[in-house]
Amino acid sequence: MSGLSESVQGRILEWYDVEARDLPWRSDPDPWAVLVSEFVLQQTQMKVGLAHWYRMMERFPTIESMAAAPVEDVLEAWQGCGYYARARNLHALSVEIVSRKPPSLPSNPRDLQNLPGIGPYTSAAVSSIAFGYPVAAVDGNIRRIHARISAEERPKDRDTQTWADESLYRNRPGDWNQALMELGATVCTPRRPLCGRCPAEDVCLAVKTDEPTKFPASRKRNSKRIEGHALVIRTPFGIHLTKRKGSRLGGLWGVPITEDPKGIDVLCDNHHVEKHRSVGRVRHAFSHRDWNLEVWVAERNDGGLDPASVPISKLDERILETAGWIRA
Ligand code: SF4
Repeated sequence: MSGLSESVQGRILEWYDVEARDLPWRSDPDPWAVLVSEFVLQQTQMKVGLAHWYRMMERFPTIESMAAAPVEDVLEAWQGCGYYARARNLHALSVEIVSRKPPSLPSNPRDLQNLPGIGPYTSAAVSSIAFGYPVAAVDGNIRRIHARISAEERPKDRDTQTWADESLYRNRPGDWNQALMELGATVCTPRRPLCGRCPAEDVCLAVKTDEPTKFPASRKRNSKRIEGHALVIRTPFGIHLTKRKGSRLGGLWGVPITEDPKGIDVLCDNHHVEKHRSVGRVRHAFSHRDWNLEVWVAERNDGGLDPASVPISKLDERILETAGWIRA
């Protein structure tokens, strides 16, 4: 199918000009502010993501300020945003940019994609919003709008990209990409689309089926279920925490965990505790893994630190809360 006609583009932009949410990087699309918003808001609801964006920008108002900070500080400020690999990439990206002459973000999507953590979507969003580069950004919202307008249950990614490219309003590419995303986030929502308020209703094929939510068909999520144990060792000085390794939680601090459903005794032996008691379970889904951990508490007299003094993941935060820890 071809892209949206000029008259539909016009209606969508008119709608956007009136209805767009007032977001801080929209009135002043400073490249760093836009980039941070794209990293923070991925797979996060706007309301929650906005609070995180303010926190990150307050702590690291410029790319130079982040580059000068140790990655641990970035991970600490990132707490609650999930997917810590993104925080590590953002830090690596800032270091890379600051080492260049001049130390500024590239404006075109091809060069942006050579930086850590930037894929096709983020590069297109940043270059169009911050630099006015005419490139279509395709996120989940735009995929959904395309599927619905064309009444395709399973549109191929390359067809959606072609549709987005052909629909791009090249005179205002940043506003156009944000307008479609905004439409997907506030009107053409996954479960309850507000078709009566949609500026594209007259060209939408899904709305004519009376069941627009059928489009697109949901993609199956292949999650690995993990049944294991988490051991919270309390001491007079705090809680035993160690720095995690690996791509998912690397750089964050956490309590000992085993993914072996029968592994609690080995975990206790390895950490030199004899008595332990179960205090509950934590279920937590992230990074294609469904964690179901039994939380145990034990005591020791040595070591330990205050969990608030180091960056910890949401998973560890929930484990500690189950064990009675409350963030001050
Ligand atoms: S008419 Fe309804 S289903 Fe179609 S694009 Fe608009 S909100 Fe989505």
